[in-house]
Amino acid sequence: MTKQVDALILGAGPAGSALAQTLARAGHSVMLADKKHFPRQKPCGEFLSPECRPYLDELGVGMALGKMGVRQISGMNLFAGASVASGRFLRLDSAPHNDAGYAIRREILDMALLEAAADRPEVTWLERHEFQRLVRNSSGEVVGAVLRDPDSRLREIRARITIGADGVHSRVARDLGVQRPSRWLDRFALVARFHGVAPRAAAEVHFVPRAYFAATTVDDGSFHLNLLVDRPALRHKHGDVDAFVREHLQSAPELERRLQGAERIGTWRGIGPLAFSTSQQAWKTVALVGDACGYVDPLTGEGIYFALHGARSLAQAIVESLERPADAAAAMRRYAIRRRREVGPRMILAAAIQRGLRHEAIVRLAVRCLASWPRLCDLLVNVTGDAVHPKDLLLPSFWRDFRRAQRLA
Ligand SMILES: Cc1cc2nc3c(=O)[nH]c(=O)nc-3n(C[C@H](O)[C@H](O)[C@H](O)COP(=O)(O)OP(=O)(O)OC[C@H]3O[C@@H](n4cnc5c(N)ncnc54)[C@H](O)[C@@H]3O)c2cc1C
Repeated sequence: MTKQVDALILGAGPAGSALAQTLARAGHSVMLADKKHFPRQKPCGEFLSPECRPYLDELGVGMALGKMGVRQISGMNLFAGASVASGRFLRLDSAPHNDAGYAIRREILDMALLEAAADRPEVTWLERHEFQRLVRNSSGEVVGAVLRDPDSRLREIRARITIGADGVHSRVARDLGVQRPSRWLDRFALVARFHGVAPRAAAEVHFVPRAYFAATTVDDGSFHLNLLVDRPALRHKHGDVDAFVREHLQSAPELERRLQGAERIGTWRGIGPLAFSTSQQAWKTVALVGDACGYVDPLTGEGIYFALHGARSLAQAIVESLERPADAAAAMRRYAIRRRREVGPRMILAAAIQRGLRHEAIVRLAVRCLASWPRLCDLLVNVTGDAVHPKDLLLPSFWRDFRRAQRLA
């Protein structure tokens, strides 16, 4: 049986749920489908850059997360060898919320966003419905998708617009033929939570040869640890993940010390490869959003911001195209352009940092310089914290604002 909705959103992570809610608020009928049962876990550093906060407030979940005990993160500490560099999030005039990021378990964040969307009468929520393939009309235009329901039955959903919000290994992007794995970055992540690690106000990155740990304490007090490694290193792990992680911890003595006596909660979870790009993100009746558009690496902790920002921008394009069908293709093109402008320079910066990371000497030198020049470290942390767009660095007004915020911090 087929059913027609305004928008069919495939994937209920931050991008899909935020988009569903925004379209519903504009009065459009939405079907939101995810292959998983919620709340579900998602391998993630669980750190939200400060710039996510206005988006969460706009989606009506900011206050609820506050009540659930979301942890405020004051900045980022970078460790390499004996050097430690600390960067603080600064309250800028242009971004007054920027003095703290958030740390929260993904199952809590994603569930809050999903509930806020699914509570809307315009939204139909399809749990454990897995996207199989796009449906096209005789002119090749996408007109919906086929989903597999929990009883393994195939269900065709017709929609005026179909959206792939299905994450980094997007099957929708593959079906559209636009997904490209990175030719130079082949990263995998191992993720686990621990009890018994003293919390710190800042998130942490510990660089070790050809890998790094990212860590933060989240809302329930557990310590969330990610190890990011190149795939060839993983091939030699011989099945014992704890031993593999311990080996890397030997090059991160500060972190090794903090983990002494800590107890791992649950198993290590792995995900990868992580680096993908897409050659196109929007067409007249179909679009990609969030990680489905492409992702580099979690080092700069921007993925959730990209997802929320992308959802807001795509919602604007979809509303325009549903209300003025003659202008649909142009509206969707404008979304792709806006995304390129906002996310493109940040992705380039993230990729440049990743290239530098391959050389241990460069990493150690960079962290030493940042340690002895804290203002530069503040700047880096605020750019990767998303409040400062790389293009803002060319504006004298930004530098005035930045210097004032540093004086006040
Ligand atoms: C190890 C690691 C650490 C990270 N750390 C951070 C961090 O600290 N801060 C940060 O901001 N970002 C981080 N990120 C990135 C962040 O997790 C993503 O950018 C963010 O989750 C993207 O949101 P999304 O909604 O696009 O995709 P996702 O959150 O991945 O959601 C996609 C959804 O689609 C569903 N789905 C997938 N395939 C199908 C299908 N065929 N049919 C139906 N549903 C499907 C999935 O079940 C999932 O629920 C990290 C990523 C990794 C891998």
